[in-house]
Amino acid sequence: QVFIKNVVSNGLKGLKQLSTQVHKMDVVIIGAGIMGVTFAHIAKTVDPKLNITILERLDQAAGSNSSVFNNAGTGHEANCELNYTPVDEEVISVEKALDIHAQFNVAKQYWANLVKNGIIKDPESFIHPTKHCTLVNEDSINLLHMRYKEMASHHFFDEMKLSEDFDEIQSWIPLTMEGRSRHQKMAATRVDHGTDVNFESITKQLAQHMENEQSADIQYNTHVKRVHKSPSGSWLIECEQNGVAKQVRADKLFVGAGGGAFPILKASHLPAGRRFSGFPVGGRFLAAEIDKEVAQSYGAKTYGKAAVGAPPMSVPHLDLRVADGKYYLLFGPFATFSPILEKGRGIVEFIRMVHLHDI
Ligand SMILES: Cc1cc2nc3c(=O)[nH]c(=O)nc-3n(C[C@H](O)[C@H](O)[C@H](O)COP(=O)(O)OP(=O)(O)OC[C@H]3O[C@@H](n4cnc5c(N)ncnc54)[C@H](O)[C@@H]3O)c2cc1C
Repeated sequence: QVFIKNVVSNGLKGLKQLSTQVHKMDVVIIGAGIMGVTFAHIAKTVDPKLNITILERLDQAAGSNSSVFNNAGTGHEANCELNYTPVDEEVISVEKALDIHAQFNVAKQYWANLVKNGIIKDPESFIHPTKHCTLVNEDSINLLHMRYKEMASHHFFDEMKLSEDFDEIQSWIPLTMEGRSRHQKMAATRVDHGTDVNFESITKQLAQHMENEQSADIQYNTHVKRVHKSPSGSWLIECEQNGVAKQVRADKLFVGAGGGAFPILKASHLPAGRRFSGFPVGGRFLAAEIDKEVAQSYGAKTYGKAAVGAPPMSVPHLDLRVADGKYYLLFGPFATFSPILEKGRGIVEFIRMVHLHDI
């Protein structure tokens, strides 16, 4: 499609442009979000000789889901999220919680290494300590006790505290408790070493380092339309850069395109693209800038409990966020009907992506 469009609109010039623009790379990465850029950095660190190109649809890194306010910035390590400890017939499983906690520890070690090596100059630019608390109503107090008993016995969570005392909970999370009756039975847990993470800041600093110090090539305004796998296992990537068709060849391909991965997979007729689709739902947060004193007195992310049967992403939470030296409170998510693949893309692309056999 891109080829025909280019030749139709530019004639022989378009054909020439295309034929002169087939580059061969070791690795091509689609998407300059936190996934794509992190993968690029790890690959280049393991093998500095690799030539790597990142193709990004937008004009900057971290412009989509990894952008600071397009997510809640919780360093997910199961301190406060009940969905990591499912209960089945009164038996609670903490395996998933231990697993996610261990994974997040690896992420923290990786980021600490970026700071140690001067790739990220100031840890305060992307990570801030916040309490991670869980608050539940009367009907889930037993569940919280069960969870606390299992988790606090593991060294990952041995600092976890549990309270049913109104005053104590209020001292932990004053904003979440404001306006509540003392007679309302509630319980809360608290872990002090949780984090708020600015994924946009990590991604941008890492992308800058990749370009300046590791000779990675990040091509912005480059929309990948489809990819083809050759019998030898190498890849041909068709894209459009500032309206001009372009092809890139690569030995290895990493698709870190977030919601944009679906149309690429569908158009490419790869087995991985079959029977996957997206629901037309999104999550929105209420956000307010707050002053430093309020931020310090709250200093927390408080997670509640989702309704039975609701997806984990619908858990209500009140989050302290820190970005560019300013403090914010985020409350949500509120479900939205959102038939788009990702922010800034139209409904037509979403409809074209849904195939009958996916349903
Ligand atoms: C409401 C909400 C709240 C969240 N809260 C949290 C949280 O608290 N903690 C947490 O850890 N995670 C959270 N997440 C998840 C987190 O934001 C994502 O997992 C993460 O940002 C995904 O990063 P990514 O690099 O995979 O995708 P993205 O950041 O979306 O990056 C993909 C990139 O690919 C580009 N792209 C797409 N299609 C193409 C194409 N065809 N050609 C070229 N480029 C393309 C896009 O422009 C984009 O830059 C939340 C997500 C949502 C939606």
